[in-house]
Amino acid sequence: MIASLVLFSALLDPQDKPSNPQYGPPSVEEPKPVTERLPNRKGNVLILMYHRIEQEEKNMVRSYENFEADLNRLYAMGYRPVTLDEYVNNRMPLPRGASPVILTFDDSWQSQFSMKSDGSIDPKSAVGIWKKFADKNPDFPVKGTFFILPNGPFGQKKFAKRKVELLLEWGSEIGSHTMTHGNLSKMSDGEVMKELAGSYDYIASLGIKARSIATPYGIAPKNRSLLNKFELNGKRYGYDNICLAGSSPAPSPVSGKMDRLRIPRVQAYDGTLGISYWLNRVSSGKVQPYVQP
Ligand SMILES: [Zn+2]
Repeated sequence: MIASLVLFSALLDPQDKPSNPQYGPPSVEEPKPVTERLPNRKGNVLILMYHRIEQEEKNMVRSYENFEADLNRLYAMGYRPVTLDEYVNNRMPLPRGASPVILTFDDSWQSQFSMKSDGSIDPKSAVGIWKKFADKNPDFPVKGTFFILPNGPFGQKKFAKRKVELLLEWGSEIGSHTMTHGNLSKMSDGEVMKELAGSYDYIASLGIKARSIATPYGIAPKNRSLLNKFELNGKRYGYDNICLAGSSPAPSPVSGKMDRLRIPRVQAYDGTLGISYWLNRVSSGKVQPYVQP
């Protein structure tokens, strides 16, 4: 008994108290900002456009290796993923000092999200690589915007439902890429409406209200307003957020310059005005990104 009292008082040696912060009140400090960049709500927003993710880099294909390198570089530069709809509506849940990036994927290729025959996520696909990265870095979740076709989506019909469920669970957004991937500028108004309504209804059949669309080849129909609003068979249709192909970062949602019907995207490739070009411009201070206060 006495021995334990001695030990107890030794542990509480009052001489320790003043200098040892461990005896102070519990810390209420905020977490450190993601970067040292000054807050800048007027800075621009990087919206990346991916198509296929495969072994070898080529036209419209990002290699596995380069996709992983993109994630690493974005993360190290303080970018954190948001969806297109969160960006347009200025509801980007970002930590202090972070900049938003939107990873968009067109065409719902299987190489974007592939599953093995047992239903596990194939690591050789964009989502496989991203999920592994997100497990290591939980503040960079699999949260992108996928513009899908009725091709599964992502091939593998038997896993299509599960893939969409998982994407939604992780916070991703599902948007439209029309029904047949045709050139909308060469279609009549009637044909355009069928493409847009068909895709909207298809996505609704997956339990999702589509808000965003990327048109095939970034080409708009002759009657551009159809993208946003029309009526077919007594039902109203329309997309709120319309993506272009583009080649520059997008304006901040609070800059007064954002046009939700003409949202530019940057190609995720190493060529002219692609991802590397713009990230280099940000690194060298020539382009100011949006920075969360
Ligand atoms: Zn496409």
